[in-house]
Amino acid sequence: MKVTVYCTEKNKTEIGKIAVADLHEPADFVTYEELRKGDGALIADHELVNTLRKDEAAGYSPVYIYFKNRLFDISQADQLVEERRSLVEEKDWSGAKDINEVLCDMDFLCRNTVNRSYPDFFQIESTDFCNSRCIMCEHYFTRNKDAQILQMETLEHMRDAIQLSRRINLNGMGEPFISRLVKQQIDLYVGYGNKIVANTNLSVLDDELIGRIGRDFEWLAISVDGARKETYESIRIGMSYETLIRNLYKLKEKVPHVKKIISMVMMRQNVCEMPELVELAHEVGADQVVFLNLNPNLIIGNAQDVMLNYPKTAQYYSAKAMEKGKELGVHVVAANAPDPGVELCFDDIRDELGKMQSMPMWKSAEEEQEMLKTAGIVNKYIETHDQEQNTTVPTNVRCSGVCDWLLKNCYADLHGNISMCCRNLIYRAGNVEKEGDFLSVWNAPLLKKCREIFYSGYVPEACLKCGMIESGELKYLTADITPDFYKDTALKKKQKQELKTLLGGPHDL
Ligand code: SF4
Ligand code: SF4
Repeated sequence: MKVTVYCTEKNKTEIGKIAVADLHEPADFVTYEELRKGDGALIADHELVNTLRKDEAAGYSPVYIYFKNRLFDISQADQLVEERRSLVEEKDWSGAKDINEVLCDMDFLCRNTVNRSYPDFFQIESTDFCNSRCIMCEHYFTRNKDAQILQMETLEHMRDAIQLSRRINLNGMGEPFISRLVKQQIDLYVGYGNKIVANTNLSVLDDELIGRIGRDFEWLAISVDGARKETYESIRIGMSYETLIRNLYKLKEKVPHVKKIISMVMMRQNVCEMPELVELAHEVGADQVVFLNLNPNLIIGNAQDVMLNYPKTAQYYSAKAMEKGKELGVHVVAANAPDPGVELCFDDIRDELGKMQSMPMWKSAEEEQEMLKTAGIVNKYIETHDQEQNTTVPTNVRCSGVCDWLLKNCYADLHGNISMCCRNLIYRAGNVEKEGDFLSVWNAPLLKKCREIFYSGYVPEACLKCGMIESGELKYLTADITPDFYKDTALKKKQKQELKTLLGGPHDL
């Protein structure tokens, strides 16, 4: 029987030896383009499984996955589930996670809508409470209403998933480091062999926390939406610039080995400070600066702050920030990086700058009151329409593969609700406390349906306009971004119309 091998260069020798030892055949190494449907056995390297998005393994029999010097037959998933169970019983977290990772490859290659694998990246909301009221964030108007912290008992219902994940993200809707339980929760995650990642406003940082960051964190992202004190404190209401700077230097001194990312949401209020932020990042020893686009919020009514309205200015300052990054050795990622060959000078952006700066930068007290009234109306509407988002249908936007968030990543809020992904929180699959175990929610009808739609080659309606699809950052999915990708769904159109009627007046929906 012919043995076709699709693998990385570095694994060729090892896989070649295993093919002869285990399958008694020499390996026929092929590139992706040379994969042919159904010609004997196939060995797919674990590191390349995510590229097999178009049923490239279909027809080969048997199909093996190569992972850490071992071949796994994809028809033997039941035995692997059993092996994983034994390893968990023995508290061999590392071994159990390895087997879980192979099961994830199998779920992908078999196009399973019911996953046998648990997520590898688990985002668990530590709290939805925040000590800031940033002008582009929901906290600007929610004012911590009904905010809570994640309880240890809720985590009990996710323990099986935490034992098998490799990375835990502490974020949800609030500032993770202000939860009084966060250190205890980090210890629990780490006890099962997880690495920790988080985004923070860095307002709270004691020595105990620094110790955990140094020992347990893979990276830490710090939100800094202004390089100058006045801008920073006007955007991040309630935060102190001095505290931020002091804490940035503490991290530089005490945990120099942990990757630090400084992030800024670009808005007309702070765009001119992009190069200065790169300088600040350099001074405080950050490794990377990420500039993100603002997602406007209906209640805040900040569509005019979005830099996509001022494309030349966004590109001009992105280019300046990137130049500064090159000069100082800081890696800069900007959502509005200019196209190659486009060079803008200050004269090119004068008109846009004038337009941008002609509007007031900050809301008056009266406007804030108006915003709170709008929030009351919209939130009431959302509460009564929450249940409309418990299913989805295919669109005609084509794709191959499946979204990472339905295969390897998972978002749980502090109440134990599992959502479709960190972007579509309103689409909820179920609650781990109510269902009693993680896997039944992970395979609830909503998530099964989404997987089924993706694997049939279409993007689900709930995923239209998704920034993660747009940026190509999803490892297991490719989609054709056609104009239909940007259309509102029928449900969205209906909801917008109803909201417009409720709010009255000119609201930019
Ligand atoms: S610090 Fe983060 S969560 Fe808190 S208000 Fe600002 S953006 Fe929102
Ligand atoms: S495609 Fe986007 S919206 Fe859909 S599940 Fe994935 S991350 Fe969420």
